[in-house]
Amino acid sequence: MIGKAIIISAPSGSGKTTIVRHLLKVNPLLQFSISATTRKPRPLEVDGKDYYFLTAKDFLTKEFVEKEEVYEGFFYGTLKSEIERIWQNGRVVLFDVDVQGGVNLKEYFGDKALSIFIKVDSPEVIKERLIKRNTESTEDLKKRIDKASYEMSFEKDFDIVILNQNLDIAQKDAENAINKFIG
Ligand code: 5GP
Repeated sequence: MIGKAIIISAPSGSGKTTIVRHLLKVNPLLQFSISATTRKPRPLEVDGKDYYFLTAKDFLTKEFVEKEEVYEGFFYGTLKSEIERIWQNGRVVLFDVDVQGGVNLKEYFGDKALSIFIKVDSPEVIKERLIKRNTESTEDLKKRIDKASYEMSFEKDFDIVILNQNLDIAQKDAENAINKFIG
């Protein structure tokens, strides 16, 4: 298994994180790549589990495979040390990253990675989900909705596209694609 990676990307609000959590539960070969970020933890988020929460100053000192200002003023990145840690455990790395990060990681890993784009039918569905989730301020919510429409145009850059209209079906589709890739 050493050297393989699964990249899951989607516009914010597409249900990507729910699918990622499911995959981690059903497939013990997968291990979540904990990203570093400069955004503040949400309630219930744990440092070193959901993210490595860093100050902007500390973020600058780290070595990344990929990093990005995902939202204005908020940096996210995949630490080199994180991938080494997971591969040394003999596991397959599972990334939950934004669309641009997904494209960059696929470019970096090439055939070692399967990149999956989770899509929903329309920007309206995304808007509804983000409003329902209620985890962002009004200003941050607007940023996410604007960005989501733009991100929807990137599906062609991914190895496979999964439609998340029915969650059970989307999860099964992702499970099957990953099993086939891991072999
Ligand atoms: P959130 O703030 O909702 O946790 O994440 C915002 C976006 O950043 C999500 O699309 C998430 O997948 C993405 N993200 C998380 N970690 C990384 C990373 O290491 N690199 C990139 N490019 N995006 C990331």
